[in-house]
Amino acid sequence: MTANQTHSPLPSGNDISLPWHLRLPSPLEQDFRFYSRNSAAGVASGALLLIAILLVCAMLLESLIGTEILMQTWRPRLFSLMVTGGCLALCHQPRWRDWLPPALLLLAFTLSFSGIYLGVVIDHPLSYVFFLQTPLSVVMISTLFRLPLHSTMISTVVMTGAMITGLFFAREYSPYEHLTLTLLSLAFISMSLFGQYVYEKLLRKHFLSEHVLYQHRDELHSANQILESQATVDGMTGCINRRGMEARLNHLYHLLKQQSPDAPERINLLLFDIDFFKQYNDTYGHPAGDECLKKVSGVPLSMVQAEKDFAARYGGEEFVIVLTDSSFNDALVFAERMRNRVEQLGLPHSGSRVNQVVTISIGVACSDGGAENGAALLKQADEALYQAKGAGRNRVAMMNTQGMVEMLT
Ligand code: GH3
Ligand code: MG
Ligand code: MG
Repeated sequence: MTANQTHSPLPSGNDISLPWHLRLPSPLEQDFRFYSRNSAAGVASGALLLIAILLVCAMLLESLIGTEILMQTWRPRLFSLMVTGGCLALCHQPRWRDWLPPALLLLAFTLSFSGIYLGVVIDHPLSYVFFLQTPLSVVMISTLFRLPLHSTMISTVVMTGAMITGLFFAREYSPYEHLTLTLLSLAFISMSLFGQYVYEKLLRKHFLSEHVLYQHRDELHSANQILESQATVDGMTGCINRRGMEARLNHLYHLLKQQSPDAPERINLLLFDIDFFKQYNDTYGHPAGDECLKKVSGVPLSMVQAEKDFAARYGGEEFVIVLTDSSFNDALVFAERMRNRVEQLGLPHSGSRVNQVVTISIGVACSDGGAENGAALLKQADEALYQAKGAGRNRVAMMNTQGMVEMLT
């Protein structure tokens, strides 16, 4: 990156302007509904308990004012209490949470319509108070439960219309009393809806900010994965590179020592080196040497199967294969098969003093032999490889548990 390259700040939700009606494009709108429903469900149970307490208090007050009033109010009050209880039950059942918003709307309508009914039928100087249950219901669904704005609006229009109609049927109110009650209710309602509009705008911006952040996080995550794979894979052969090999080997050793549940049973390490490769380069040229490396490395790559096992390019023409869980014997069989398959590739090598074709020598060591860490295990395999070279090349040598090198072939 050059010094004069500027970093543009990451976009946030605040950079996105919302339309006046606040609706987001369709899939986002769905996600937002889900998000706001869950945040509303969080406050709902406490608020519903409050409503239940207020309903009981209202009944107590009504019994104090006069038992004839309680005789008329107890049924609507009991029904409202039952709907409140139903809403409470829905709050505690995450599976039924989709039903919570309509249930809360039902509660609001119950409170509003029962208030209008009681305001009309009860003949008492205080009966106008029942009509105030309608603005309270609007406050309940908008400010308290923050139901979606559009359903709150529609419900508000219906309930307010019913309340104004109910006032006409109520006992004789003077036009001023009528007007006062209507205006008072409208003041309540408009303030509450305005508050909800402002809150929902903020909530939607917050939601968008989070959404944008998630997107950046995902992009960063996949970019990191690409970088990580580039940092640990050898570009020419597709094997894991030395850095990646050391990290994996150390990790496996760590698990083994910790005796953690996903630790391997043991770690077998095979180190191989192409025989007389300098001469190969001298005879066929460096590009042909590269091609040869790719073909030879394809053999261990095709043979390694288990999830924790891997083949890595340790250095120029030296490769490491790590086999976990297999027995030492199986690892030796694997090494011999690999040596044989490379020979069977039949890549001509006229400069080799051991064969007409490209061959490899392999040193094998196992963690059961007492190596303390990955580096010590590699050293043992290297010692075995060195002796395989000394013994004539194109062969497998192993470090036994007594720390002695033995030739396999
Ligand atoms: P030995 O049988 O003892 O292993 O003999 P050798 O000639 O193979 O000796 P050594 O393993 O020390 O040789 C390594 C040679 O591998 C040196 C270098 O020219 C060659 N080499 C290392 N990396 C590459 C590479 O990426 N491409 C090519 N073409 N050659 C490489
Ligand atoms: Mg070498
Ligand atoms: Mg070599």
